[in-house]
Amino acid sequence: MPVGRDGQATEPRSPGPLPQAEGSGGLSPARAAAGEVPPRPSRLAYLSLGSNLGNREGNLAEAVRRLAGTSGVEVRRVSSVYETAPVGGPPQGDFLNLAVEVVTTLSPRELLATCQRIEADLGRKRSVRWGPRTIDLDLLLYEGVTSADPELTLPHPRLLERQFVLLPLAEIAPDLVLPDGRTAAQASRMDRHSSRGQKRARPRFRG
Ligand code: ADP
Ligand code: MG
Repeated sequence: MPVGRDGQATEPRSPGPLPQAEGSGGLSPARAAAGEVPPRPSRLAYLSLGSNLGNREGNLAEAVRRLAGTSGVEVRRVSSVYETAPVGGPPQGDFLNLAVEVVTTLSPRELLATCQRIEADLGRKRSVRWGPRTIDLDLLLYEGVTSADPELTLPHPRLLERQFVLLPLAEIAPDLVLPDGRTAAQASRMDRHSSRGQKRARPRFRG
């Protein structure tokens, strides 16, 4: 896959269609017949994390720590923490948000399940839609995959509308090509004029 020697993306990329099944996964028929399991491909994926309840910075740090501790997930980059006013939902406190780049051998569904398990473990209660939450982990983009399934929509359907997603994403992946063809840097610049969010602080943690 087009990832450089250091594991970073070497060129802007946009998510393409679902990858086709690869049969024996590149193994020779003899090796496949011998029961050898081909290595799972590594893919780049981008996540958005947010918290507006409890120890917000601690919740973000713990979620990143748990992501990094998940087998099959390597956290490559973590953005600064951004403080933003809530969008939609009932009156509630401001959010802290950040974006994370991972390289993963998990499938999109496995990665979503990991996110939901971390949300549950950190005590998130799903009550009001778009209500306050200890932690929210959204899957923004998964390399090579598009999906219209409401259980897992990829790219994330509100990715382009949310400056609290675009600003941190542009910080860690400015050349990433978004679904509308703009780079993350371009999209975040466009959006900055209407932004109420502010960059708050460098994170005190790394994955
Ligand atoms: P939101 O993040 O939209 O504020 P929730 O975190 O409660 O709300 O998620 C609601 C549902 O969104 C989840 O049950 C999940 O299955 C679904 N969903 C669809 N696409 C995605 C995605 N790309 N990332 C995370 N959740 C998603
Ligand atoms: Mg969510």
